[in-house]
Amino acid sequence: MTDDFLNNSLLYSKGVGPARAEILAKELGITTVMDMLNHFPYRFEDRRTISKVSQIDSSLASIQLIGKIERIYSEGSGKAKRLKAILYDNTGSIELIWFQGQTWVEKKLNINQVFFVYGKPAEFKGFYNIVHPEIEVFDPVLIKKEQRIKPIYHLTDLMRKRMVDSKALSQITYQIIHDPKFSIQEYLPKSILDFAKLIPLKQAYYQIHHPNSQAEGNQAVLRLKFNELFDLQMRILLQKQSVKKDIKGVLLHKIGPYFNQFYDNYLSFDLTNAQKKVIKEIRLDVKSGRQMNRLLQGDVGSGKTMVAWFTMLMAADNGYQSCLMAPTEILAQQHAQSLAEEATKLGLKLVILTGATKTKERRLILEQIKSGEAHFIVGTHALIEDTVIFHQLGISIIDEQHRFGVSQRAKLWATLAQPPHVMVMTATPIPRTLAMTVYGDLDVSVIDEMPPGRIPTKTLHKFKHQFVEVATFIRNQIELGKQAYIVYPLINESEKLDYQDLMSAYDEVARFFPTPQFHISLLHGKLKPQEKEQEMKRFKEGKTQIMMATTVIEVGVNVPNATVMVIENAERFGLSQLHQLRGRVGRSNAQAYCILITGKKVSDVAKKRIEALASTTNGFELAALDLKLRGPGDIDGTQQSGLLDLKLSDLVKDEQVLILARKLALDIIHNDADLLENSHQELKKHLKNIAKGKVWRRIS
Ligand code: ADP
Ligand code: MG
Repeated sequence: MTDDFLNNSLLYSKGVGPARAEILAKELGITTVMDMLNHFPYRFEDRRTISKVSQIDSSLASIQLIGKIERIYSEGSGKAKRLKAILYDNTGSIELIWFQGQTWVEKKLNINQVFFVYGKPAEFKGFYNIVHPEIEVFDPVLIKKEQRIKPIYHLTDLMRKRMVDSKALSQITYQIIHDPKFSIQEYLPKSILDFAKLIPLKQAYYQIHHPNSQAEGNQAVLRLKFNELFDLQMRILLQKQSVKKDIKGVLLHKIGPYFNQFYDNYLSFDLTNAQKKVIKEIRLDVKSGRQMNRLLQGDVGSGKTMVAWFTMLMAADNGYQSCLMAPTEILAQQHAQSLAEEATKLGLKLVILTGATKTKERRLILEQIKSGEAHFIVGTHALIEDTVIFHQLGISIIDEQHRFGVSQRAKLWATLAQPPHVMVMTATPIPRTLAMTVYGDLDVSVIDEMPPGRIPTKTLHKFKHQFVEVATFIRNQIELGKQAYIVYPLINESEKLDYQDLMSAYDEVARFFPTPQFHISLLHGKLKPQEKEQEMKRFKEGKTQIMMATTVIEVGVNVPNATVMVIENAERFGLSQLHQLRGRVGRSNAQAYCILITGKKVSDVAKKRIEALASTTNGFELAALDLKLRGPGDIDGTQQSGLLDLKLSDLVKDEQVLILARKLALDIIHNDADLLENSHQELKKHLKNIAKGKVWRRIS
């Protein structure tokens, strides 16, 4: 009955009509009564108090005044021309200013007429003014009606043009919620409403569209945000649970002999406690009989590769293959090189498959993967092509996962009858809120400790004209047997121009570091994969002392002997990218340096970024600072939160609501996982309903 009303076409609601219905459908996709109710205001304007000019204070966000227009005049000319009017109300006068729509305003204003004015007051040379105020000829009846908390809705240009504005939307929702047929079923159990101090659902819809006070508006917003975040948590947790229950994981119950042999004979350092802890967590997963879905977070240089290797050995010990997928060719090559060495010691075979693998070789490698001759497969996204058929894949590891899209990760095992265990590794700290949402169906492990003896990298800021000084510094380090990176951002849209920039920079650097004493490697996007590999190899083997590169080396590259990272045009990089680049040095026990070079003029934000980077080497602290500097919506991963379809909640600002929602959702899952209890029946129905229209993709 009531559902019928909510599902009715909006066309039949009072105050809508065909023209408005068409605009709402076209611009906002609103077609039903419920759609309309779910178009929430994004803020409220308190229009209840009318103030006097004498009460104005420029710190006020807005003010409403009633007064008489005393003067109307224009000032300035051309683009600077503005219309001014003086409003007087017995306690004083204030200036009203318009830069736009002057003709229209001038027509509307009349000297000596009483006006109702709304806007944000500002102070200029001891005199108050309001720029572009709302004005209305004073009408006591109308004003009484307008004196309330006004909800402000998102509108499109076309809506504004057709006068389907906040006022119109407010009128439509008013009609709906005062219709005797309006009713909406509560779906949260009473225990949750009580615990979280939430108002009932129907009341929330009244109060969000027509609050009688700020407090009422806030209560409604809280309730509806909770709905969003709680629904999301229920969906994620139920799904995680069903994966655990329904998908059988590859059973890897044995440890040894490869794992033990490597640990006892070939490991050249002691694992950190954090590495050991994580390896244990993985071990428990893979012998549980359930599928592992794990996110491994560890700051740059914390030693994730070694954890990945031990995980791969667990597969080998049980006769399974494992693969390691890297986001770039260079990184795949590097992993393959270092791990192939270890594999050989154990008498095992590692192959590499990337986009650059030549046809003939590729055929051979594909055959080795299929027959099981290859125990370890390292590669780029070439690994997820349909032509790759595994003999028996036990574990998939994805390095630097933020580089991969959700669907790519899913594809890695989508076609396999028996899904492998999946672990994604990242050095990009994921804010807690994203870990609970976008990555909410993964279990999380953290390496929160660096290998012993690491000295924090020193970070310095230099200007372009100080390059001689920087070059001298590099020279000194080279004389000590160390190596240096000089990194250039991609500046131009065109690869060709970037290449030119890099080449002219190369000429400059080469003048300071002449052959035969010095050798410089050049790495950029135009090189063929084999050439890149060759350059990397020369640098790694110490045949070149300087590596000049565009950002292709950003992630994962590991040359412990390099101690200087010079970043040109550092103002063009984001904080997390700078942190990643800096992480290429400081990988041994020698003091390392990161030198950020900028032009003379640096924006405030860029300055703050540089200061932040100099203040700490801790990736998690930097992520928090980054969040502050950039604001939400811009952090790594939040693009993916678009997939979450949140209308009211903000994953950063509403962290507390999210934590509460997650806790209460977890309580339900623990106590009544199948939602069988009476008090959970409406919730069950609700979740089923919202799942209908949504494609909820698995994350890995
Ligand atoms: P990331 O976590 O950034 O991928 P890597 O796995 O590349 O870090 O490790 C960084 C460097 O630290 C490598 O040279 C690696 O061999 C070394 N390393 C890893 N674990 C340890 C350890 N427990 N003790 C000393 N060095 C280690
Ligand atoms: Mg790495």
